[in-house]
Amino acid sequence: MEINEIFGDVLRIDGFLEKVDEKITGAGYNPQKDALIGLSICRDDNYRALRKAILTRYGAGYFSLETLGALLPSDITAYGAMSHHIPSEGIAVIMILPHIGIDKDGRVRFVERFGRKEPGYNCGAICNYLNSAINGNVFYDKRSDPEMALLSEAMEPFRNGIMEEYRNGDFGKAVIKATDHIYEISIERIRQLFKEHLKNEFEVPILLAGGIVVNTKDNDFIQLRILEEMK
Ligand SMILES: [Zn+2]
Repeated sequence: MEINEIFGDVLRIDGFLEKVDEKITGAGYNPQKDALIGLSICRDDNYRALRKAILTRYGAGYFSLETLGALLPSDITAYGAMSHHIPSEGIAVIMILPHIGIDKDGRVRFVERFGRKEPGYNCGAICNYLNSAINGNVFYDKRSDPEMALLSEAMEPFRNGIMEEYRNGDFGKAVIKATDHIYEISIERIRQLFKEHLKNEFEVPILLAGGIVVNTKDNDFIQLRILEEMK
């Protein structure tokens, strides 16, 4: 199947959450009762199956860390709020899961969307950034478009490398590379935030689960990259 050729071993959403639950249980907690998920995903409605699965699986549900493009926010106030929402003597799992799409013709960057006639960009924010880079103008106004401005700023050191993939003639590979960078920047950011600001904020253990969500017309898959205890 095409998806494995591009993304290697991938899990279905349930398979991914089972692995997370094993980790929660291994740490001595009850996933259903003790866990709050900090969900760092894109705002996209295409995460509906993941959101639904989390809401039905974990009593506390999730604390939203969503942004356009799924770049992990660095607002320490948000994490402070989240730290006060974890069940007492419970555990938190921060999930960092940017996304990418493949349509039924195997085109990476598109996906058939619910109720839409034609496949659309997925992740739309990352493709929007890429088109801006192709057009040579990655400026987004901080007041009217703050999330894209932050995304563009964070991606700047990697812009040339991403554009190289594009110049090699493959928009899909450029999207994969850009998505990888969003993921890596986010992982580095959460580690940095914990080191500098949040170590004492969270009084409970924190797990980090990271990977790339691959949206297709009928199912979503997760390329799991990290599942570890962060604190
Ligand atoms: Zn998106």
